[in-house]
Amino acid sequence: GFIESYNDPLGLRGSWEGLVNFKDSANTARTEVISENAQWFEDHSPVDPRFRKAEVKGVTAKVITVGILAGDSYPATPIGINLPNSNWIRAQHGSKSVSIDNITAAYSAAASGNGFNEEFMWSEAEIEHAKKYAHYVDNVHTDLHECLGHGSGQLLPGVDPDALKAYGSTLEEARADIFALYYMADPKLVELGVMPTADAYKAGYYQQMMNGLMTQLVRIVPGENIEEAHMRNRALIAYWTLDRAAADAKANNCEPAMSIEKKDGKFAVKVSDYEKLRTYFGELLGELQRIKSEGDYEAGRQLVEKYGVKVDPELHAEVLKRYETLNLAPYKGFVNPRYETVTDANGEITDVKVIYGEGYVDQMLRYSQDYS
Ligand code: ZN
Repeated sequence: GFIESYNDPLGLRGSWEGLVNFKDSANTARTEVISENAQWFEDHSPVDPRFRKAEVKGVTAKVITVGILAGDSYPATPIGINLPNSNWIRAQHGSKSVSIDNITAAYSAAASGNGFNEEFMWSEAEIEHAKKYAHYVDNVHTDLHECLGHGSGQLLPGVDPDALKAYGSTLEEARADIFALYYMADPKLVELGVMPTADAYKAGYYQQMMNGLMTQLVRIVPGENIEEAHMRNRALIAYWTLDRAAADAKANNCEPAMSIEKKDGKFAVKVSDYEKLRTYFGELLGELQRIKSEGDYEAGRQLVEKYGVKVDPELHAEVLKRYETLNLAPYKGFVNPRYETVTDANGEITDVKVIYGEGYVDQMLRYSQDYS
């Protein structure tokens, strides 16, 4: 339907998005385990107990495989959908969430071997770890963000749900993301069979920090600030944590858990203590939840303005220059396959062939001719 309004700068006109899909049962088992344990995560969340939900309500989640993208989901598509958007419906009745695994798998396959990680990661260790776990861990991050993060916590009685005004969506995305980051490293996830090993989460931590501190800047024009809510949220989390690590190191006279350093004359993110990062994430989750639960506009505004908006021009220029040499596109789109039925002598369908023989331009011209 005409639901999502994020494509309209005024946020008023809804886009029609369509897709044909079927359920990915193996991956759905993972989101079901997470959803079934929603109350455990809520009860153990490192936030003031007054801000926790006594009873977590209906989050249904599944993983799907898309066969055809249509409307405003084509050629660029969401990787997950979480509805409804209205907070009051979510609070009273719950929400429904789908993740699209074959799309994220395609992104990650397209990215492997393109030289990006080799250019920006600190060392061979991070590159190898990313090869093994990054795609999977990224999906777990999305599941935790969508199935649990947004639905966790509660407002104190009498707090206006719109108290955070223009900073509301950035702070809400940051809260869901930091919830996911904090729990990604929890031994409970290995126990539940959601995470393959106790250190797989490190691939997600590194990727998120590198992206928030440096590499997402490839989408920003020189001289501009960060404006988009998801990008602000990632910068907020990463730069707050960088600051926290520096202060901690200074107070205790030790190496910071995370820093941006020059290696071979180029900036790179160095993480030396992942467990410590997790404790900082727990602190930030506590603070973001407090800001939401109390409707503390001023504290929220300061967090976003201090960490989520401004861009270091020197770092930005260097990242853009290095990115340019890789010759990659900052956004990607998809070409739909064609499906052809195979029939037997009686005209019964016995199989469906998936054909990838068409380029993007040919496909657009065929759609225009056949369906306009
Ligand atoms: Zn979100």
